[in-house]
Amino acid sequence: MAASCENAPIFDCGCEKKGCLDNYLSGRGFEMLYTHYFGEERKAIDIINGFKAGEEKAAGFVDRYIEMLAMVFGGLFTGLDPDVVVLGGGLSNFDYIYEEMPKRLPKYLLSIANPPKVIKAKHGDSGGVRGAAFLNIRR
Ligand SMILES: [Zn+2]
Repeated sequence: MAASCENAPIFDCGCEKKGCLDNYLSGRGFEMLYTHYFGEERKAIDIINGFKAGEEKAAGFVDRYIEMLAMVFGGLFTGLDPDVVVLGGGLSNFDYIYEEMPKRLPKYLLSIANPPKVIKAKHGDSGGVRGAAFLNIRR
């Protein structure tokens, strides 16, 4: 499997636009891309477990996905120039992302950008829900 965004699909989004990043950089997006490339539905955790077990199909997919992630992050991080990026959501529990980003990200950053630290959310993978709750508490 080619490691790049080659032949990447343009998914319809719930916001009625096409190609929104949330449809790719999420557990659901991870599963949708797997379905796109292999024509079969598979849960993210099952793909990750297959990857950890050395299953060739899952390993090839994960390699491609991580490369796509680095490519997208490279564009975002070049423009935003963050010092630290904190990942949340279910896919943020996949520790391989944190191992690979320091290796793969630099080649997608413009030379003027510094690679940020990419870290897992300190309080778990439900930061979006927690943040929504805090918004209501403030009002
Ligand atoms: Zn959208």
